Amino acid sequence: MKVPFLDLEAHHRPHRAEFQDAMNRVIDAGAFAGGSYVAAFEEEFATYCDSAYAVGVGSGTEALWIAMLAMGVGPGDEVITSPASFMATAEAITYCGATPVFVDIDEETYNLDPKQLERALTAKTRAIVPVHLFGQPADMAAILDFAQANRLLVVEDAAQAHGAAYGGRRIGSFGDAAGFSFYPGKNLGAFGEAGAVTTSDEDLAKRMRMFRDHGQVEKYYHDVVGWNGRMDGIQAAILSIKLRYLDTCNALRRRYAQEYRERISAMPHASEVVLPVEADGVDHVYHLFAVRVPERDRVLERMKDLGIACGIHYPIPIHLQHAYSGLGYGRGAFPIAEKCAEQFLSLPMFPEMTTEQIGAVVEALNEGLAAVTAV
Ligand SMILES: *Cc1c(COP(=O)(O)O)cnc(C)c1O
Repeated sequence: MKVPFLDLEAHHRPHRAEFQDAMNRVIDAGAFAGGSYVAAFEEEFATYCDSAYAVGVGSGTEALWIAMLAMGVGPGDEVITSPASFMATAEAITYCGATPVFVDIDEETYNLDPKQLERALTAKTRAIVPVHLFGQPADMAAILDFAQANRLLVVEDAAQAHGAAYGGRRIGSFGDAAGFSFYPGKNLGAFGEAGAVTTSDEDLAKRMRMFRDHGQVEKYYHDVVGWNGRMDGIQAAILSIKLRYLDTCNALRRRYAQEYRERISAMPHASEVVLPVEADGVDHVYHLFAVRVPERDRVLERMKDLGIACGIHYPIPIHLQHAYSGLGYGRGAFPIAEKCAEQFLSLPMFPEMTTEQIGAVVEALNEGLAAVTAV
């Protein structure tokens, strides 16, 4: 049986008429760049994230960047983040003119380990960017305590965690701001590129709106040098519809995660697999279902031969990326992040999966492990 990594066609099929109708309305209104559909989605998304404001922008990368720019993060500042993330997390810091400083991750949750923060703190530290990796909220209580004690800003990278909760409250409402991505494959995805920042700080929301619109306070009156970071009207109209289905889709992801867990635990090679661990008090939304296995590349190849499309998130931690060689981190700087990067294997995970597909993935995983452990 062939199992795709995700199936956007199946995801969109049931709502196609609704999407087409929404796009027609945007065309009729001519509200293409920013405009009323963006404003409506911003309000809905802010409410969804237990936040006062949401500012729609062009991508998740831009969301993180504009949030930090508007906070005044810049040259000379250091921003602490996780090396186990997508490159964009660090890029946003660099594009503010600041320097990313990495700390190792927790081996169970794969999120930034708050116990490592003290060691990374310097007089230049300005902010922390915790990443809610794979859809699991980072340890926000410890991170916020540390930030408060040291007067640091906190910008959540929530690109993989739409709808995830920590202590019963939705993420996106814990830091000074949170950056979301609506890249098509994310739990809440647009029909192209889009992103948003949530915050409950009115002044910050105003500054972000200014930055995403060329620093304008009024048409052709520019208070600061900004950027064109507006969200498209079509993306906003699509996102307003898809937001209504997000909780249902996240519940399905959680159900499939449970099914994976049970079936993997019951397979002959179960003892070679490290399953994802849910921290206490979090609602994980399984943007990715990443297990850890030995000989990962060979297991992945074998599964591919059997028709199962897996992914690796991410094969190289950010501190070892060529682009960041100038920061001077060597191999061994963050041993847990480095070990996990060699072992991570993301299994197919999407709301339209079937029980048969989950069964086929688990069978192929077991076969892949059997192949690499046979002597
Ligand atoms: C997807 C992603 C981003 C970037 O979002 P884009 O919309 O692709 O720019 C940032 N951080 C993480 C953790 C992501 O997964």
